[in-house]
Amino acid sequence: MPPQARDHAVVLGASMAGLLAARVLADGYRKVTVIDRDILPGSVVHRRGVPHGRHHHALQPRGCAVLEDLFPGLIAQAAQAGAGAGDMLRHCRWLPCGQRLRRADGGVPGLIASRPFLEGQVRARVRALPGVTFLEGSRIAGLDTTAGRRVTGVQLQDQVGDQVRLAADLVVDATGRGSRTPVWLAEWGYQPPAEDRIQIGLGAATRTYRLRPGALGPDAMIHIGHTPDNPRIGVLGMLEDGRHMLTLAGILGHHPPTDPVGFETFAASLPFGDISHALAGAQPLDNPVAFRFPAAVRRRYEDLQQFPDGLLVLGDAVCSFNPVYGQGMTVAANQALALRRLLGQHRQPDPGRYFRAIAKTINPAWDFAMSADLALPDIPGIRSRKVRIANAYLPRLLAAASFDVALSVAYIRVVGLVDRPLGLLRPDRMLRIWWITRRKANIAPPHAGVSHTRNVATRREVSPWH
Ligand SMILES: Cc1cc2nc3c(=O)[nH]c(=O)nc-3n(C[C@H](O)[C@H](O)[C@H](O)COP(=O)(O)OP(=O)(O)OC[C@H]3O[C@@H](n4cnc5c(N)ncnc54)[C@H](O)[C@@H]3O)c2cc1C
Repeated sequence: MPPQARDHAVVLGASMAGLLAARVLADGYRKVTVIDRDILPGSVVHRRGVPHGRHHHALQPRGCAVLEDLFPGLIAQAAQAGAGAGDMLRHCRWLPCGQRLRRADGGVPGLIASRPFLEGQVRARVRALPGVTFLEGSRIAGLDTTAGRRVTGVQLQDQVGDQVRLAADLVVDATGRGSRTPVWLAEWGYQPPAEDRIQIGLGAATRTYRLRPGALGPDAMIHIGHTPDNPRIGVLGMLEDGRHMLTLAGILGHHPPTDPVGFETFAASLPFGDISHALAGAQPLDNPVAFRFPAAVRRRYEDLQQFPDGLLVLGDAVCSFNPVYGQGMTVAANQALALRRLLGQHRQPDPGRYFRAIAKTINPAWDFAMSADLALPDIPGIRSRKVRIANAYLPRLLAAASFDVALSVAYIRVVGLVDRPLGLLRPDRMLRIWWITRRKANIAPPHAGVSHTRNVATRREVSPWH
């Protein structure tokens, strides 16, 4: 078989994963075509193909670093256009697992803005790349193959309903959770990937507000996590245009209502009162919109023995996480970097090598999110020894972190996907937890840190986020 040419790469899906794939492919292929069923907007508006874009999004510090590598100056440009760009521990209020993290410089710059804004910033950069073309309003119908051994092109229905065939040397599937690759593999006689599924039964609802001035103090975001006794989550974050977005979520059927009164009553039932406090006197700008996310899903492409040449999969199409941890865009960015490395080393991106490489980038985020999900006793799943240890340890770490800057920083760097979760188990950190727990005889036991009044934001501090 002749070596695959580097003439034309086609990316299926023009959301975050597809855009990042297009960015790295543009370095190695003469022509890159990005296909999406939506007409991609020129302004910051929601689009049908990305319904999750109506809900709170933040880009984790690791994601910021990768985007800055791929698009130099992007983060500063986004900040200039109004997005919040700053240290995620200094300027956000974190209340995970019934504890309140210490405010400190974590060395973890993140980005907070609406999802359509962030995608629009990245899309504008990708559109400007030489050789990249967008085919909008085009629905992918299938792939062409040579006897199922190699993918050679894409079949699509274009804007006017015509059936079109596009020849391609490489196709990257970035169509998200609904990816058809497992079905196509089965049709061509391959084994589809095994799936790890965690049935979290998450329901979310989101509403935007104009807050009274100073309502959030210096903070760009308040993030209240769930506890085993109260599987409810709330994230109130700034948007690039001065509004704020509140996403409420509940696991295993504890779904937030979408009527305005029920929505705010749910906000008041969160493990801490910070969000309710910030909402006092706020002007709601719309009605709550709902989103359902039944399960976190990881497709184990790296375990397949056989896979057709000329096809790769990237982003949520490979792995989609419980959204409350805010990992998806960063994990997609890490996968794009793995693809770039591979294209630098091999003329022909070998699927086996690619899937093993991206599995390594997914593992830490998946392990962290899976353990956190399985900390809720009613979520079905096997609790391995590793998960049981993590879930016995983490509440202790967080209880100690509420008194200790170093532990707060260590935790937030793991949440930000900068450091690996295993580092939390370092002997010096264990010793610190033991020492703090002993010294603070009145330390709140894990998950008991319910407080509806305490608010550590220094209100006189001027927010650097606006
Ligand atoms: C409620 C919620 C909140 C989240 N919050 C965060 C957060 O704070 N931080 C974070 O990093 N991540 C977050 N995520 C995850 C994040 O949104 C995704 O990981 C990210 O969007 C990457 O997705 P993707 O590009 O792989 O797929 P998607 O965003 O699902 O995009 C798929 C694209 O493919 C197109 N498409 C699909 N099928 C076809 C077809 N047949 N023909 C043509 N086009 C097609 C769609 O139109 C779409 O543009 C959140 C997710 C949810 C659900």
